[in-house]
Amino acid sequence: MSQLWSPFVKNLVPYVPGEQPKMTRLVKLNTNENPYGPSPKAVAAMQAELTDDLRLYPDPNGDKLKQSVADYYGVKTSQVFVGNGSDEVLAHAFHGLFQHGKPLLFPDITYSFYPVYCGLYGIEAKQIPLDEEFQINVDDFISASVSANGNSGIIFPNPNAPTGRLLPLAAIEKLLQNNTQSVVLVDEAYVDFGGESAIALVNKYPNLLVTQTLSKSRSLAGMRVGLAVGHEDLIEALERVKNSFNSYPLDRLALVGAAAAFDDRDYFNDTCNKVIASREQVNAGLTELGFDVLPSAANFVFARHGQKDAGELAAALREQGIIVRHFKTERIAQFLRITIGTDEQNQILLDALKEML
Ligand code: PMP
Repeated sequence: MSQLWSPFVKNLVPYVPGEQPKMTRLVKLNTNENPYGPSPKAVAAMQAELTDDLRLYPDPNGDKLKQSVADYYGVKTSQVFVGNGSDEVLAHAFHGLFQHGKPLLFPDITYSFYPVYCGLYGIEAKQIPLDEEFQINVDDFISASVSANGNSGIIFPNPNAPTGRLLPLAAIEKLLQNNTQSVVLVDEAYVDFGGESAIALVNKYPNLLVTQTLSKSRSLAGMRVGLAVGHEDLIEALERVKNSFNSYPLDRLALVGAAAAFDDRDYFNDTCNKVIASREQVNAGLTELGFDVLPSAANFVFARHGQKDAGELAAALREQGIIVRHFKTERIAQFLRITIGTDEQNQILLDALKEML
């Protein structure tokens, strides 16, 4: 703390990202990265971009990338926003769309950046409990909104994190039909591992904004690329915030790499399918070891063991160089969130757990 800080900074509670350990030879299953590399075409595009042209600023609008996303989803480029990781896209949405003097609704167990952005942008947070099965119940959001006399917006990941549970599009549509006066933001960081994108609904609901990331299913966490798709008016709000903050958020390498990753559909489909198949194997292996595994549509599973303490298991795994995520928070302190790795990594994890149990 320093007297040079603005008073505002003293009260910030920053997000704590999952650890990026410096040790080598780890089985790193703690931050939901893809176990496979990015599309070779994306790597080649980035390599080809390593020229003297790096002296020039990148395209501030990211038009080529927007075109790739628009082509992929069958929307107009004016319905696409791109940013430096979906965290940045989310930040602009909080700033530009969720400040209306009413609470923002999100699940009690969810992505822990949401309360952080509420703190950063002075937005009141209202957390809606997941049901006993750790599912989002849209009726609870609808009734909470009635009792709060409206809301500044609603946000949740689909599939949710860290639970991995998927909300069907029909439930999202029900929420949209009952919530027409504020933005409903569906954070689809993990949707490609078994969910159906709500982008299919954006032309029907002008208050629906969908965000995605290239960090997970397109394996470019190191490049920091995220996007949003929605009605042009919502995209314009994000552009206005972005152009009041940083007009070149995506560098030249990220722009070409992300566009090539979107264009390489075969590689994307193959790697997603591999992760999904491995997830089902990990699920079966954990169940056999006595874990209760929540049904997951993501590239991770959320599992608890009836007899063994989750914190102790995480610590014991760590001693063997296997890193998983353990949240010491209410309701989920007995769960481990385990990223799906390569089949070899998953086997190392299952063997180590077998030994411990
Ligand atoms: N949303 C959710 C639910 C996430 O888990 C993550 C990853 N931490 C993000 C958004 C942000 O991803 P990125 O900034 O890498 O696009």
